Amino acid sequence: MEILILPGDGIGPEITQAARACLEAANRRFGLGLDLVEREIGLPALEKHGSTIPSDVLEHARRADGVVLAPLSTFEYPPASEGGINPSAAVRTGLDLYANVRPAWTRPGVPSLAPSMDLVVVRENTEGFYADRNMALGSGEFMPTPDLAMSVRKITREGCTRIARAAFELAMRRRRKVTAVHKANVLKVTDGLFLECVRKVATDYPQVTLDTVIVDAMAALLVRKPGAFDVIVTTNMFGDILSDEAAELAGGLGLAPSINHGDRHGVAQAIHGSAPDIAGQGIANPTALILSVGMLLEWLGARNDRNDMAAAAGAIRAAVDAVVQDDAVRTPDLGGSGTTEGYGRAVAAAIAG
Ligand code: ATP
Repeated sequence: MEILILPGDGIGPEITQAARACLEAANRRFGLGLDLVEREIGLPALEKHGSTIPSDVLEHARRADGVVLAPLSTFEYPPASEGGINPSAAVRTGLDLYANVRPAWTRPGVPSLAPSMDLVVVRENTEGFYADRNMALGSGEFMPTPDLAMSVRKITREGCTRIARAAFELAMRRRRKVTAVHKANVLKVTDGLFLECVRKVATDYPQVTLDTVIVDAMAALLVRKPGAFDVIVTTNMFGDILSDEAAELAGGLGLAPSINHGDRHGVAQAIHGSAPDIAGQGIANPTALILSVGMLLEWLGARNDRNDMAAAAGAIRAAVDAVVQDDAVRTPDLGGSGTTEGYGRAVAAAIAG
């Protein structure tokens, strides 16, 4: 199997190196037979090839069995017409990665704002309010006059149904509770359609309890009783915001992993950005990307009936759980005095056993 690694911008290359060391350790210990291939994207690719995601890299991602996508400094990119394409959006739409699965849980020995929580935000990834992915042609944001800016939100029956199914399938492997988050009191048509689809899918999963919560109430409830939630399913932008909130409650953005997947492709991606404020200092926390790689192995293992991959995923998570408790090894965002490289090495060594 081939895993394509895309190191990205900002702290991307630093945390990718650490995550790659962990993947290599898992590959060796469990004999996974993974072939790791690295290609440049982001600002270095723009300089060399005139595009932040050259078309052959996107093609390569389609051919690969899995992809590791590091954070990107999209805010520094020129317009798409000058090669500044958002690689994250290109990969998500190009590979039809409709589900962005973002778990957030508290860990022993790691400071967190929430006393205890273990939830997963399942965020729709290919439509919603994201102007770069909700039109066949042109942008979902436009300016009819210099003083009037407009934005279009795309919600489809197919998009809602498949994200709901992904959430219910996940809930069946967890505590069998789904919370659908919406704003159907105001966005009656779009979020009305979303809720209609979720309720319809729910009828196929009678063992799973379904609750619905309005998004602003959800923002408060996550703080007030974070332990009350299992699987949260929602549209693109609400999911983006609520998963950052959940990540922060669980211990910080540096710990928060995710996988983007569709029916055929899986892409590991930390939920945080490229953190330009700490790039190049060797202090970025690589945990989120390391755990994302673990999620990718778990997803590949389930798809291909590979117990060795599931075991490797478990070993990655256990290694992180052990090493992240060590103040001398963990990174400064967690109050530690460690470095990206040293932490990556320690987790890789723990995976190697
Ligand atoms: P984006 O819009 O690209 O998601 P963002 O605005 O959410 O980016 P981030 O790049 O995620 O911003 O950074 C937000 C803050 O969190 C910054 O102060 C950054 O240094 C910190 N941060 C993010 N990721 C990490 C990490 N892996 N390790 C340590 N600190 C991090």
